[in-house]
Amino acid sequence: MTKLITTINPATGAELRTYEAWTPAQVEAAAAAGHAAARAWGTQPLDVRVAAVRRLAQELRRQSKTFAELITAEMGKPIGEAAGELEKSAVTALYYADNADRILEDEKVAIDGVDAWVSYEPIGMVLAVMPWNFPVWQVMRFAIPAITAGNGVLLKHSPNVTGCALALEKLLLDAGLPKHLLTTLVIAEGDVPETIERLINDDRIAAVTLTGSNRAGAAVGAAAGRASKKSVLELGGSDAFVVLDDADLHAAAAAAVKARYHNSGQSCVCAKRFIVAESIAQEFTELFVKGACALVAGNPADAATQIGPLARADLRDALHRQVERSVEAGALLLAGGMPGEGEGYYYQPTVLGNVTPGMAAFDEETFGPVAAIAVAKNDEEAIRLANATPFGLSVSIWTSSSQRGVKVAKGITSGAAFINAITASDARVPFGGTKKSGYGRELAAAGVREFTNIRTYWSV
Ligand code: NDP
Repeated sequence: MTKLITTINPATGAELRTYEAWTPAQVEAAAAAGHAAARAWGTQPLDVRVAAVRRLAQELRRQSKTFAELITAEMGKPIGEAAGELEKSAVTALYYADNADRILEDEKVAIDGVDAWVSYEPIGMVLAVMPWNFPVWQVMRFAIPAITAGNGVLLKHSPNVTGCALALEKLLLDAGLPKHLLTTLVIAEGDVPETIERLINDDRIAAVTLTGSNRAGAAVGAAAGRASKKSVLELGGSDAFVVLDDADLHAAAAAAVKARYHNSGQSCVCAKRFIVAESIAQEFTELFVKGACALVAGNPADAATQIGPLARADLRDALHRQVERSVEAGALLLAGGMPGEGEGYYYQPTVLGNVTPGMAAFDEETFGPVAAIAVAKNDEEAIRLANATPFGLSVSIWTSSSQRGVKVAKGITSGAAFINAITASDARVPFGGTKKSGYGRELAAAGVREFTNIRTYWSV
């Protein structure tokens, strides 16, 4: 019997479209065609690949409006932020078009009597397991550098954004990239773990990358380990936003609201735990609550909306349980704390005060509009609290002394540290986690080289 995937508009709960999931034979055909396309692509000179990536940037901009509408319909992101995903992807494509020569050129190694160099060569077809929270950007962040490096992509996207996943495949064709260079697999719920494991074991797959939960990351990382294949995992985060006693509180609170509620709170690098110096905690909290309560929540298709629904009903329900458990454990409910009324999977912008380790909002990733404020007596305690999490993606530190900010950052384990700035991914700098936030890097030179054969040549 044919298995079906139905997408749902999270703003209304209404069904959008139903797709037929693929049979194992269709997956096999895609693997064969993708493998052949990747091999052919890897033999293309770099200037041909770069020209294609430049056309991809143009196409991302040309299709921005229709694509943004599809993102908003499928996962509920406010429309302005959805268009932002397309633009960010276009900027990233141009970054790689402009810098591929430098990043991928052979590196001479000075050894007496030997002509030696390091070459960054394509590895073939990479399997990409991707999440719904940035349906275009998460895929492009990996795919643009991978394709620039001469690889192909087999994409397993989240089922709730199947329309976006298929539109991405078409977007590459519209940009004139070869057929099957990026193929979207449509896999039914229940078939995913077995299909992904089978593909990871398949000789035609060179490596795998996953962005998503720790549960999914652990399964894919373990399968890659068993198959002795390279993997990159970009997993969850519970980033600290540390406000020291000398910070500009108005700037910090305004940035904190953006950092927490961007994408309706559904980002791995959203700031989730606000660790605030005792002497300024009350003033910061008042400013933060005021900012959170002023956010415009509503229909994500409306340009004025700042907070849309969560992407799925189960994610909203899980978030609400985290809030309830935190309050039961002693957190103070300072704002929100309830699902939105009416249709759709809305959740009120929520602020919890008095949060300490041992509470769900501190110990677990909260993937939605819920902020946890904790108080630190001094910089040492702020560092201890920031580190008291299994995650280690990024940290944002607010202080009038950048020297002090860097000193605090050095005490905290994370893949990035932003001083007086909100954490964000940017093509020019590497992005990735430590601890349970995963391993490997995306973006910049490091992101391209993750999926190359870093090959030594030694000629006498
Ligand atoms: P998942 O991690 O389950 O989904 C991400 C991707 O992994 C999807 O394509 C999913 O496919 C796939 N996947 C899931 N399990 C396996 C497996 N065993 N083998 C291979 N692939 C798998 O995230 P959810 O959508 O369920 O969200 C749950 C939580 O994960 C969130 O609340 C949040 O905490 C975190 N998350 C983190 C993200 C980040 O950016 N770091 C992004 C999204 C979620 P399928 O859905 O078909 O099972």
